[in-house]
Amino acid sequence: MAKQESQTKILVTGGAGYIGSHCCKQLHSRGYLPVTIDNLVYGHAKNVRWGPFYDGDIGDDLLLERVFAEHDIRAVMHFAAYAYVGESVKDPRKYYTNNLGNTIALLEKVLQHAVPSFIFSSTCATYGLPQALPIDEEHPRAPINPYGRSKHMIEQILSDYSKAYDLRFTCLRYFNAAGADPDGEIGEDHTPETHLIPLILDVARGRRKKLEVFGSDYDTDDGSCVRDYIHVTDLAAAHVIALEKLLQGAPSDVINLGTGDGYSVLQVIEQAAAITASPVPFKIVERRPGDPAVLIASNTKARKQLGWKPEHSDLKTIIQTAWNWHRRI
Ligand code: UDP
Repeated sequence: MAKQESQTKILVTGGAGYIGSHCCKQLHSRGYLPVTIDNLVYGHAKNVRWGPFYDGDIGDDLLLERVFAEHDIRAVMHFAAYAYVGESVKDPRKYYTNNLGNTIALLEKVLQHAVPSFIFSSTCATYGLPQALPIDEEHPRAPINPYGRSKHMIEQILSDYSKAYDLRFTCLRYFNAAGADPDGEIGEDHTPETHLIPLILDVARGRRKKLEVFGSDYDTDDGSCVRDYIHVTDLAAAHVIALEKLLQGAPSDVINLGTGDGYSVLQVIEQAAAITASPVPFKIVERRPGDPAVLIASNTKARKQLGWKPEHSDLKTIIQTAWNWHRRI
C-alpha cells in the first residue's frame, strides 16, 4: 500500500478495453498507478490488472466524485467511448450522449479537481475522406459519421477549454490499432467483432467459415482498401510519452499515431494465412459504406514531438502477436 501511495495516479477511463488496458500495463511498468473506470459494456474486468478498478460509467457523477476523493489523480487518459461506425449512423444518440455528453461531464470533474493534464483517445475518422496522403495533422477535419463527429467535437471542446482554463491536452489520432500484448496477457476481444485482423484469425481458427472482403474495385494496387495498421503496444508507448510530456508542462497538441505504411485487405489476409499456416477463405462483397480507399498516417509529428517510433508495427509482428492471443481466447 505504501508503494501505491507514492505512485503518480492516472485516471484511465475505458481501462478495461483493448487500447486502455494496454496503456494501463505500460503505465504500471513505468511506475504509475492506473486507476480504471469502465462500465464493462465493451471492456472486460479481467483486463484490469495493474491498478484499482471502478465498475461504472463516466456519466455517473457520484462515482467520479468517489474516484477523485479516493485518489490524488494527476492526469486523465480518456478512452471510454463507443467506437462502431455503422452503429453510430443507425443510433447517433448513443454516440452523442455517451462519447460527447459523458466526456463533457468528465471534463467538468477534471476542472473541478484541477487536474491539468488530459490525454484524449481520438481517431483518423476525424479527417473523413482523405484529400491528400499521407494524412498529417493539418489535413482538414471533415468526419463523415457520428462516431468521427463525436470525437472531432471533443477535440474542439478541449481546444476551447485549454484556452480558457488550466488544462492541457494531447489528442492522439489513431489509425488502425491492431495486434496484442507481446507477453500474451491482453489482446483484442470485441463483441461484436468488426475489425479485420480478429475476423481473419477467427476464419483461420475455423470459428468463421469465410471472411467477407468489402470491395475489390478501389483505386489501389489490388483493388482492396489500404489501411495503416499500428501495433497497440506502440500506441500505448506513445500515450505514456505524451503523458510524461504533459506532466512536465508541455503545451496542448494533436498528434497522429500510425506507421506511415499501408497494407491492403488482401495483403493482410495473405500474411495471416502464412503466419497461422491455415487457409483463410474469403469472398468479395459490396463496399462497406464510408470506407475510403486508402488511409495512411504521416507520423512525422509523433516522431519529432514525442521522440517516438513504432517498434512492433510491422505487419508480421502485428499478426503474430494477435494470433498468439487469439487462439487462446
Ligand atoms: N474489412 C473487410 N472485411 C471485414 C472487416 C473489414 O474487408 O470483415 C476491411 C474494411 O473495409 C477496411 C479494413 O478491412 O478497409 C479495416 O477495417 P476495420 O473494420 O478493421 O477498421 P477501420 O478501417 O474500419 O477502422
